[in-house]
Amino acid sequence: MDQVKILLDEAEIPTHWYNVVADMPNPPAPPLDPEGKPISPAALSAIFSDPIIEHEVARTRWVPIPEPVREIYRLWRPTPMFRARRLEAAIGTPARIYYKYEGVSAAGSHKPNTAVAQAYLNHTASVHRLATETGAGQWGSALAMAGRMFGIDVRVFMVRVSYDQKPYRRSMMETWGAEVVPSPSTETRSGRKTLDLDPDSPGSLGIAISEAVEEAVSRNDTKYALGSVLNHVLLHQTVIGLEAKKQFAKINDYPDVVIACCGGGSNFGGSAFPFLADKAGGREVRLVAVEPESCPTLTRGHYAYDTGDASGFTPLMLMYTLGHNFVPPSIHAGGLRYHGDSPLVSQLYHERIIEAVARPQLATFEAGMTFARCEGIIPAPESNHAIRTAIDEALECKRTGEPKAIYFTLSGHGHFDLTAYDRYLQGQLDDSPYPERAIAAALEELPKVPQP
Ligand SMILES: *Cc1c(COP(=O)(O)O)cnc(C)c1O
Repeated sequence: MDQVKILLDEAEIPTHWYNVVADMPNPPAPPLDPEGKPISPAALSAIFSDPIIEHEVARTRWVPIPEPVREIYRLWRPTPMFRARRLEAAIGTPARIYYKYEGVSAAGSHKPNTAVAQAYLNHTASVHRLATETGAGQWGSALAMAGRMFGIDVRVFMVRVSYDQKPYRRSMMETWGAEVVPSPSTETRSGRKTLDLDPDSPGSLGIAISEAVEEAVSRNDTKYALGSVLNHVLLHQTVIGLEAKKQFAKINDYPDVVIACCGGGSNFGGSAFPFLADKAGGREVRLVAVEPESCPTLTRGHYAYDTGDASGFTPLMLMYTLGHNFVPPSIHAGGLRYHGDSPLVSQLYHERIIEAVARPQLATFEAGMTFARCEGIIPAPESNHAIRTAIDEALECKRTGEPKAIYFTLSGHGHFDLTAYDRYLQGQLDDSPYPERAIAAALEELPKVPQP
């Protein structure tokens, strides 16, 4: 019988994370303070604990995964890689399609890979309370679970619309013992300021980040945790790509193209960077980040220094950005609605080492439906962006007759996104490309520091 699942033993869980900084042609651009001066690592210590900062600024190619983290990884890692034989047959493609499924974690996505690492590192620094934000709830639930495992209290500022629309993600967080506050809230100055201007504000990730960071800065028992964008988050997510490489080695295959959806960039970076190490050594492999047409950060954003939040509490980072006041159209891939992108992913895209494409919402749901009907798994709307692109690559192989190996990361399941599927099935979803004038307007709001 032809193999469908490519599995690894628990002993094959990676012992080290891979740090792409070691293989970048140019060192990462430094974060800046509001005056435009590079900030020192120490300046980050108001919001992050020291072991997190060490990972953030690490320069070595390999960073050891602490044994207590590997132990928890064993609850769901290594994650399975599948050969999508039924999808290949349905498309009629000569391509080999592979996907690695991160939805087997208890929170249902890749996010616990860094949540567990961050909770452990904060625990070693005697931090007993963490504040964070969440959009659709995947990151909040991952950190709620991880925090509980190390006795850390977690407070989650959840974007108001999601708080109202996705009550079950909130129930998950509360089950794991986290406190969930709808954002904008009256608990912080930045939340109250937003509510003064707009009492019915639906919130945004940028606003929720401001609230969580403000809380971490103003309370000395609390640190902040971020679920994507930053270097340490991408570092922790490389377990995905490292395992995938072992899985490919097992079956003597290797991808021509690696595809992952990209919000803040941790799923993409974690999936693609370990392959970038081979690319740096001369191997040919394309690395493709996929974003929504309605939040086209890499493909249409400005490469500029911008803040990571709406109120400007975070350092300025050089990244592709739609502007920190960006309030995205309300598409269902909530995890892909951040205004910026990982500085590492942004720089590698700017230097043309990786590729990026944007896909419209309806086409991504159509791909997700095809996938669910062939392979069974109902994907998260975010993951549907990767599936769309993988199917398009497979269709291109059908046209050219090339038997390429196509890999994508299936970043999570869609069990809490069935409202979105309902709306798709009832013909109520639409495409909302991001307006050009909003992109132009964002230029005006960029911080007044020397821009590239
Ligand atoms: C959060 C999330 C994403 C986006 O991840 P980034 O690391 O921010 O790019 C993708 N898929 C799922 C299922 C998610 O929960």
